[in-house]
Amino acid sequence: MTEPIVSYQDVHKSFGETPVLTGIDLDIKPAEKVAVIGPSGSGKTTIIRMLMTLEQPTSGSIMVDGNYLWHMEKDGELTPANEKHLRQVRGSIGMVFQHFNLFPHMTILENCMTAPIHVQKVGKKEAKERSIEMLEKVGLNDKLDDYPNQLSGGQKQRVAMARALVMRPKIMLFDEVTSALDPELVGEVLEVIRGIAEEGDMAMVLVTHEMEFARDIADRVLFLDNGVIAEEGRPTDVLENSTNERLQNFLHRFR
Ligand code: ADP
Repeated sequence: MTEPIVSYQDVHKSFGETPVLTGIDLDIKPAEKVAVIGPSGSGKTTIIRMLMTLEQPTSGSIMVDGNYLWHMEKDGELTPANEKHLRQVRGSIGMVFQHFNLFPHMTILENCMTAPIHVQKVGKKEAKERSIEMLEKVGLNDKLDDYPNQLSGGQKQRVAMARALVMRPKIMLFDEVTSALDPELVGEVLEVIRGIAEEGDMAMVLVTHEMEFARDIADRVLFLDNGVIAEEGRPTDVLENSTNERLQNFLHRFR
């Protein structure tokens, strides 16, 4: 059996006294495409932010690529991985956010080159070649010297994807990447994600409200509700054939 690239074991997360996740068990296979759906506030973003080490679980263990990010000892103590190891894990994960998070004072090309140079210690020439290749992939190789504020929202989001891909991640996380876009710009961003998915080799976790898209590209859909994965399975089973009432009510809003 293939080892999972990501593994959550009984992960709980509270903010202050408020429990958000109350027992997440989830294995993601290398190259698997997982869509996470669920009501606003159900913890979808929190689940993926913990993988980027942007949030720490309250309890439980998370493994990425065979290594623990956090590990719950038998005595209940939560042990984080050391800083060097965390850096390594972060380097194997690319994340694209709802609000692009590009560096406004850098050109598009510089936005893409900076992480490989400073984090991966790649030479400038190689960083540039990789960046141009990825910007070509997202259809923006004619914008290398532009600044983010010269681009549309859809273009900015495509740069954000190129910037993540330049790091050659094993896992890509997409956090509602089309939610902040005007409707007419959503399609171009989804097409780029579809292209990345079709290349096949990366695991992808997509938090999304685009149900049609989830159905098309995901191998598995998770419905997060009340702090747990309330339903999971193949897209048709979850999005069309489930008898879970709360899921049906949730999906009804998208019809
Ligand atoms: P979703 O992505 O499903 O909308 P989130 O993971 O963003 O949900 O948030 C889940 C819950 O956790 C929400 O109630 C949110 O207000 C709360 N939350 C998220 N991040 C923080 C934080 N840093 N501090 C306090 N509460 C937070």
